[in-house]
Amino acid sequence: MKADFATAAKRWLTGYDRSRKIMKVCGSGVCQQAKCRQIRGAETVGKNKSGAGSLQGEQKMEKEMIYDVLIIGAGPGGIFSALELTENRNDLRIAVLEKGNSLTRRHCPIDGKTIKSCIGCRSCSIMNGFGGAGAFSDGKYNITNEFGGTLYEYVGEKEAIALMEYVDEINCRMGGASARLYANDDPVIYRKCLQNGLHLLKASVRHLGTDLNYVVLENLYALLKDRVDFFFNTAAASVRREDGLYVVTTESGEVFRGRRCILSTGRSGSKWMESVCGSLNIPTQSSRIDIGVRVEVPYETFSEMTDALYESKIVYRSAKYQDRIRTFCMNPHGVVVNENTNGIVTVNGHSYEDPALYTDNTNFALLVSNHFTEPFHESNQYGESIARLSNMLGGGVIVQRFGDLIRGQRSTKDRIDSGFVRPTLQATPGDLSLVIPKRQLDDIIEMIYALDKVCPSTASDDTLLYGVEVKFYNMEVEVNSALETCCAGLYVIGDCSGVTHSLSHASASGVHVAREILKQLEENPA
Ligand SMILES: Cc1cc2nc3c(=O)[nH]c(=O)nc-3n(C[C@H](O)[C@H](O)[C@H](O)COP(=O)(O)OP(=O)(O)OC[C@H]3O[C@@H](n4cnc5c(N)ncnc54)[C@H](O)[C@@H]3O)c2cc1C
Repeated sequence: MKADFATAAKRWLTGYDRSRKIMKVCGSGVCQQAKCRQIRGAETVGKNKSGAGSLQGEQKMEKEMIYDVLIIGAGPGGIFSALELTENRNDLRIAVLEKGNSLTRRHCPIDGKTIKSCIGCRSCSIMNGFGGAGAFSDGKYNITNEFGGTLYEYVGEKEAIALMEYVDEINCRMGGASARLYANDDPVIYRKCLQNGLHLLKASVRHLGTDLNYVVLENLYALLKDRVDFFFNTAAASVRREDGLYVVTTESGEVFRGRRCILSTGRSGSKWMESVCGSLNIPTQSSRIDIGVRVEVPYETFSEMTDALYESKIVYRSAKYQDRIRTFCMNPHGVVVNENTNGIVTVNGHSYEDPALYTDNTNFALLVSNHFTEPFHESNQYGESIARLSNMLGGGVIVQRFGDLIRGQRSTKDRIDSGFVRPTLQATPGDLSLVIPKRQLDDIIEMIYALDKVCPSTASDDTLLYGVEVKFYNMEVEVNSALETCCAGLYVIGDCSGVTHSLSHASASGVHVAREILKQLEENPA
C-alpha cells in the first residue's frame, strides 16, 4: 500500500521517521543501507585532523558502494523515478547525482540592481539543481498527449495520460491541491479560434504557479532525502560499462557504480547526453528546433482566454510559407525572464499563483517549428547561432515594440518608455529583424495579426516582443518502450531523451521507467 505522502513528508520533516529508520536499520548491527552507512561514516570519520567536516570522507566511502540504481539529474524525471522506486522498494540503494545545488541553495544572482543580466554562472541556478529546469518555472502541468512530448508513442496514449494523472495526484498530495485544474476545451473560444485559422489544442492543466511548485518540491525533497543518497554539485562527466556495472565518473574525478543507470539530465544536459550516446554507440537523431519571440501584452488583451483556459496552446499555419507557429507557455499576470542554456541567453516567462505577485501583463511565446532534412542534422546549432546573434547585438535578450518592428525601426529606451506596456524584463531595446531570419519573422508577424482577431489589440504598436526564444529539442535517443537504450540497464528519460519537453511528460517518464525497473527486478532479482 502506498504511503500518505503529506503525512510521510511531515514525519520526515519532524525527524520522526528519520530516527526510526536509523534505529531500525542500525539495530541489526549488519547495516547495509547507504544512508545509514553515510550517517555511521559521519560518526566515525566525522572530523578530520583539522576538525573540519568530513564530506570528502563520506563521498569517498560512497564511491565504493555499488548502487542498484544511479540517477543522473534531479529534475522532474529523476525525482519521480527516485520516488516511484522508493515507494515500492525500500531496500534499493539509489544515488542521485545532480550538477546543481540543493533546492534551498539555488539562487540566481540577478537582482535587477547590482546584477541586471545573466553573468553566466558555471552552473545556472535557474536550470540546474534539485527540481531541475522546472524548479522556478510556472509549474504548469499539462495533462495531454497533444503537446509536451511524445511519451504516448512509447507507452500508449491511455497509459501516458494515466501516468500524467498519477503525477498530478502526487503533486496535489505534496502541497499542490489548492491549485486549480483548468480544462482547455471552451467551445466558444475553440470556435472563435477556428474561424480565424487558429487551432486551440485540448488539454487539462494544473497551474501550480512558481510559489506552490516550490512547496511541492520542498516536500518531495523532504520525503526523498533519507531514502536516496543525493550528491549535489556533482556533475557526471562520463558513463561507461565495466564488469556488468555502469561506472559514472564525475567532473571532479569521483567514481560511482550502479547496476542500472537512469540518465535524466534535461535540456541543459543535452550536450553531455550527445557525448554519452557517442561513447556508448547509442543511436540518436536530431532535426527539430523552434525559434521565436516572447510576446508581452496587457493582461486584459488575453483575459477572455486566460480567465477561461489559463494556458491556451494555439497552432496557426502561415499562409505565406505554410509553416506551423504556436503559442507556448502563456503566463497571465506573469513576468518575462532570462534563460541561460549552455552559456546562451534566451528568453522565457513564468507567473505566480500568489495574487500579491501579479504583474499587469500577460506573456507567451510564439514559436516557429523548423524541421530540417538531409544533409543538415545540427538543428540545435542553428538555434544557438540565432540566439548568439541576439546576445552579440544586445548583450543578452533584445526587446522591440511591435509597431517599431512593423515600421522597420529599432526600439530605443525612449520608444519603449513612451509605450503603454511596461516591460517586466530589463532587456536591450533593439531590432529583432537583424536577428531572426525573415521566414520566421514573417511567420510570427502573420500569427500576431491572426491572434489580433481573437484577442483584439495583440497587434498593437506597444505590444512587446522579446527575442529570441528558442526551444531546443534534444536529439532523440533511440529507446524501447521501457525507455531503455540498446545498452541493457541504461535508461534515458525526460527532456534529455527527446521524448519529453514538459514537466508532466518528464515526470511521467520517470514513473514509467521506475515501474519498468521494478518489473525487471521482480522477474530477475539478481
Ligand atoms: C523558465 C522555465 C519555465 C518552464 N515552465 C514550464 C511549465 O510551466 N510547464 C512545463 O511543462 N514545462 C516548463 N518548462 C520546461 C520544464 O521545466 C522541463 O520540461 C522539465 O523540467 C524537464 O524535466 P527533466 O527532468 O527532463 O530535466 P530538467 O528539469 O532539466 O532536469 C535535469 C537536471 O539534470 C541536471 N544535470 C544536467 N547535466 C548533468 C550532469 N552531467 N550531471 C549531473 N546532473 C546534470 C541539471 O542540473 C538538472 O537539474 C520550463 C522551463 C524553464 C527553463
